[in-house]
Amino acid sequence: MTSTIASHHIGGRRVTDTSLRALAPLHSPVDGAPLGVVHAGDTTLVDSAVRSAQKAFQNWSLVPVKDRVQVLYRFKAIVEANIGDLAKQVTAENGKTTAESAAGIQRGVEIVEYAASLPQLFAGEILEVSTGVDCYTRRFPLGVVAGITPFNFPAMVPMWMFPMAIACGNSFILKPSEQVPFTPLLLADLLKESGLPDGVFNVVQGDRETVEAVLDHPGIVAAAFVGSTAVAKAVYDRGIASNKRMLTLGGAKNHLIVVPDADPVITAKNVVSSAVGCAGQRCMAASVLIAVGDCDAIISAVEKEMRSLACGTEVGAIISAKAKQRIEGYIERAAAHGAKVRLDGRGQKPAGKAGGNYVAPTLIDGITVEDECANDEIFGPVLSVLRVKTLDEALAIENANPYGNAACIYTTSGATARYFEMKAEAGMIGVNIGVPVPRDPFGFGGWNASKFGPGDITGKDAIAFWTKTKKVTAKWTAKSTNWMS
Ligand code: NAD
Repeated sequence: MTSTIASHHIGGRRVTDTSLRALAPLHSPVDGAPLGVVHAGDTTLVDSAVRSAQKAFQNWSLVPVKDRVQVLYRFKAIVEANIGDLAKQVTAENGKTTAESAAGIQRGVEIVEYAASLPQLFAGEILEVSTGVDCYTRRFPLGVVAGITPFNFPAMVPMWMFPMAIACGNSFILKPSEQVPFTPLLLADLLKESGLPDGVFNVVQGDRETVEAVLDHPGIVAAAFVGSTAVAKAVYDRGIASNKRMLTLGGAKNHLIVVPDADPVITAKNVVSSAVGCAGQRCMAASVLIAVGDCDAIISAVEKEMRSLACGTEVGAIISAKAKQRIEGYIERAAAHGAKVRLDGRGQKPAGKAGGNYVAPTLIDGITVEDECANDEIFGPVLSVLRVKTLDEALAIENANPYGNAACIYTTSGATARYFEMKAEAGMIGVNIGVPVPRDPFGFGGWNASKFGPGDITGKDAIAFWTKTKKVTAKWTAKSTNWMS
């Protein structure tokens, strides 16, 4: 588990270069144990990854799709056989509970399954457009493509990208978060064991400078990104400026709307699991609960459920000491500004994990729409309650926020749910589900400042993103029927 240097993975081999710039040493969020160090890839290292990927692309792109996906069938089986080790590594470097780590990997496996079904989805279209003249399409891979990923799902978010990208025939360069560099190396090993040719999947470690080297490299033709909104926008603009196909997913501020007819039992548990799962470090996490009318009984049930969770075992760690301080700052300022902190998760030191970074579930009641808790992405297990009189007021608040990842309504009325579904400005809507992740073939993707670029990152849109089509118009007869043939 413990590694000292987070190597790169290029051309099927581990590459270590200690002359590259060393980033701050990594410590496990769980207990502070030292994990290792990243030496950030520079333009030369990125270039060597691109060359290796270009070489691999020459053969991989010619392998028929039915044969390419055989690697993914094997990869799925190997990942499932190794899910315990993978989950342990995710937990060691990210801090979430091992159950949460395993669940994220399992979700990644679903994407592998979808990508493995590509032969069923990949066929082109054909139409006789004039007598004796056929028009048809063929899909082609793009070439060397890249994925840039955040800290919060060290296996799953890369797995949103590379299974489909490589099934489509591309070679892939992953630049993982510098906070979780080790899990992707395990994935690289498992891909190799699955029979993926060397150079089709590469890992280049690093930070902003490495990302910029990836975005500026003319040999990389497309990139997907997942991370915070400001970076998503900058990465999108820089990639587009160097003529790449780009899709970048950003941050979120997700609202859960509760109306008085909501089922109290289903709602309380579901709200809490959305707000507190992965210690709130999910782009799909509930951040604000908008209570329409009298929902006091449900809010009390939410508080009771939050109180029942043990920090350090049922609620995992926060990625870094800095992130923990940032979250605690929001709680402190909310209290200072007069909000009622019904449950205060600050100052946690779970037994045996004193060197870790923990914030327990926190419930802040009575915030106003102007408060920072109502507007900022806090990215911790903090749920703020805003009270309004009508569903339209709740919708106006949800729709005025610049993000648009997820929004959810808790109700037992179909008509209310449908009204909300039609009016809410978000790409992923939940009805009595606080983490409304669409599963394949449905695509994952938000709206507004939660996503830049066309389509979703998973599902059917992923096939379009990682391929280009050629349109062929063919005539095998001398007969002409109109001026176009
Ligand atoms: P981040 O934006 O700090 O980092 C993401 C990636 O960008 C990392 O690989 C990092 O090395 C790189 N990076 C950081 N700063 C950069 C810069 N200035 N220029 C170029 N590259 C840079 O995000 P994070 O803290 O790792 O992850 C948390 C964020 O990700 C949250 O905002 C969360 O909502 C978001 N997220 C979004 C989704 C989604 O699907 N929309 C999914 C997961 C996480």
